Amino acid sequence: MQFVSTRDLQGLRPVVLAEALEAGLAPDGGLYVPTSLPEFDSSYYEGAETLPDIAQRLLSHFFARSPLEPQLAGICEEALDIPVPSVPIDSAEVLELFHGPTSAFKDFGARFLASCLSRISHENESPRIILVATSGDTGAAVAAAFHKKAGIQVVVLYPEGKVSARQAHGLECWGDNVRTLRVAGTFDDCQRLVKEALADPVLRGHLRLLSANSINLGRWLPQATYYACAALRLLRIGRAPLRLIVPTGNLGNAMAALLLRKAGWPIAEVAFACNSNRTLPDFFLSGTYEARPAHATIANAMDVGAPSNFERLRWLYPDAATDPALLSQSFDDERIRSVIAVAPRRHSYVPCPHTACAIALLEDFRAAGDRRFWTLCATAHPAKFETVVEPLIGEALAVPQSIEAMLHRPARAETVSADYTEFTSILRSLAH
Ligand SMILES: *Cc1c(COP(=O)(O)O)cnc(C)c1O
Repeated sequence: MQFVSTRDLQGLRPVVLAEALEAGLAPDGGLYVPTSLPEFDSSYYEGAETLPDIAQRLLSHFFARSPLEPQLAGICEEALDIPVPSVPIDSAEVLELFHGPTSAFKDFGARFLASCLSRISHENESPRIILVATSGDTGAAVAAAFHKKAGIQVVVLYPEGKVSARQAHGLECWGDNVRTLRVAGTFDDCQRLVKEALADPVLRGHLRLLSANSINLGRWLPQATYYACAALRLLRIGRAPLRLIVPTGNLGNAMAALLLRKAGWPIAEVAFACNSNRTLPDFFLSGTYEARPAHATIANAMDVGAPSNFERLRWLYPDAATDPALLSQSFDDERIRSVIAVAPRRHSYVPCPHTACAIALLEDFRAAGDRRFWTLCATAHPAKFETVVEPLIGEALAVPQSIEAMLHRPARAETVSADYTEFTSILRSLAH
């Protein structure tokens, strides 16, 4: 199995799995995609019940002939052993993807990438240094996933004062091989420092820098596994196809479902529920893609103006804008707040602000007379966004055990300026 860049569809420069995982972005600036997809065959999954079992069969195609192939079972068991309960609401179900160590769906991808990279050994080489700029969820998931992995250092950068106290704790509570930098600046400053370092030939001459952002193939592919489980479950009880509503920012999570759909899985509609950053909804309205600056909303993990996985959508669905099975809707903060406020009474459910966008879209479908069974992704635990959710529902949320465990760890971070020279001296000090 080989992978090519979305900007190299003639396949002139194919790479193997390990190379795609270590590169993140392809050298031409495109995103790695597989050169072939395994056609769905339900009999191939007979006897596979658990997420790690189903994942192993699904992903074996992509791992074929890679040095990691014999390790796939171990990787799936180690990284994907996370429960994914289905909770019924309003003739639909909520697929809770937030029962991993940092209570957001990003745990699946981050843990899978960490398991893969820690098994790609390069003897006698200096440690890999993973750089993550974060406005919240990603940094915690990556830090938790790589914590104490041999041969790997993690540097998390987050903007001082721009994340909630609970989120800051989730970024600062690791230690060991994880360094957390509290940057006096904005999220864009954090991202600029990481991008500059990754593109710095002098630095890369003696440091093995890597990014772990959501375009990495090792984070993208494993997200297909929970959709595979959900589709098989519905198929086995005679309720196929799967109809999905996915809270969407960079399109990573939703693109994993579209990968299965393209391979013939019983998946019908895929709807992208967005906040008031309207790049995707406007693309589906007008057919023209127009990236724009992101603006802040209360569903902040989806504050994206240029979805980084858009090239994968173009590659897989060149006619996405006119495909009747693909749709997208935008919801402003006011709507998100009103959905959260009534959800306990209307649905006996408390969503995070991102999941609330998915519920808003379901409510719009129901109001238009759609009675079909939909599957909504819940992408984070509401207690991660307690400052938004608790005042709206008028009560305190129980904190899940995973967040509780993080809160009990001591937190530590260094405050640094947004200056590139200061950042590079920290990176250099890690090499020893
Ligand atoms: C990252 C994130 C999203 C958006 O996922 P994409 O893959 O970027 O579309 C939605 N909800 C939560 C809670 C997230 O952390």
